Amino acid sequence: MDPSEGRSPELHVTVVGAGVIGLTTAVVLQRDGHRVQVIAAERGERTTSAAAAALWYPFRASPPERVNAWSRKSLDELTRIAREHPEAGVDVLTCLESADDTRPPWWAPCVPDLSIDAGPHPLGAPHGFRFTAPRIEPSLHLPWLESQLDSPVRVERVQSLAAVEGDCVVNCTGLGARALTGDAELLGLYGQVAITEPGDIDPDVALGDERDESALIYVIPRRREIVIGGCVVPSADDRSLVPDPERTDAMLQRVRAAGLRPGRLAGARAGLRPYRNAVRLEREGRVIHNYGHGGAGYTLAWGCADEVRSMMRHVDASTRCCV
Ligand SMILES: Cc1cc2nc3c(=O)[nH]c(=O)nc-3n(C[C@H](O)[C@H](O)[C@H](O)COP(=O)(O)OP(=O)(O)OC[C@H]3O[C@@H](n4cnc5c(N)ncnc54)[C@H](O)[C@@H]3O)c2cc1C
Repeated sequence: MDPSEGRSPELHVTVVGAGVIGLTTAVVLQRDGHRVQVIAAERGERTTSAAAAALWYPFRASPPERVNAWSRKSLDELTRIAREHPEAGVDVLTCLESADDTRPPWWAPCVPDLSIDAGPHPLGAPHGFRFTAPRIEPSLHLPWLESQLDSPVRVERVQSLAAVEGDCVVNCTGLGARALTGDAELLGLYGQVAITEPGDIDPDVALGDERDESALIYVIPRRREIVIGGCVVPSADDRSLVPDPERTDAMLQRVRAAGLRPGRLAGARAGLRPYRNAVRLEREGRVIHNYGHGGAGYTLAWGCADEVRSMMRHVDASTRCCV
């Protein structure tokens, strides 16, 4: 966040959506001096953001150049939060990601300490990448973000963005944007995670293997539990979000087959990632759209919020519209 840009005049901004994207955007805009109100149909535990794993990792989000820039901004901000605000539920872990060869991944430019491991990876791949990245605990982080706001989140379903009050409206409704904007490009990608007790899993190391999406594996330690994933299944919006026990078993078996010993199963979560061929971050009149972050909402949130902040500098408060 570059303070040399100077502040824009205070605007009354309504952010629609209280997942990680809406709350992060609201915090950044409030810090920049705007009067911000968040409106959301659901908050906290009832959002997709609450079901996320949630490791910093650019997964299922496009386009690559913008994703790299946003991810890098988020990496820096989340690392700072981990250092300065332990109550925000962010910790920096060593991450070991599987690879078939020693070519760097497409997102390598945004990770300063990425190195290629030429030897076998703990999940069985011939090679791997090693880097450090923040892991976020949604049950701590979403309330922490809310606690940073001057006005509490207003729980209300918006029927039309045009009817929302404010000099500017930021649309952070995730998959809900399809109904609000008619965006047929948005697709729900079903994901499910198992939550276990720590068992013998190293609490400082996250493991991942996304080489074959039909057998996706990740093992992400939290402070008191382990998150084990995962899956990616294109799905209708009304798909049941009750986790499928057979899928949970299959994920645990994949992890055990790799020689890992997580503890007792403590629960499972499911959600629909709001996927789009390209994240929609653009202005349309007095509305700024910020949705479609796919499998990387936590990874992109701070970078995208900062871009919204920059766009806000072109909003003319006197005409109440974006110029
Ligand atoms: C199993 C799983 C694992 C994941 N793991 C990771 C990970 O490791 N790392 C990572 O970065 N990402 C991960 N993700 C992806 C991440 O969860 C999403 O990208 C992120 O949650 C999207 O956030 P959002 O705020 O856009 O959407 P949401 O969390 O869905 O929030 C949308 C908000 O908009 C509101 N809303 C919608 N429509 C309306 C309306 N009409 N009126 C008012 N409010 C409305 C909703 O009530 C809600 O408050 C994972 C996702 C899943 C499902």
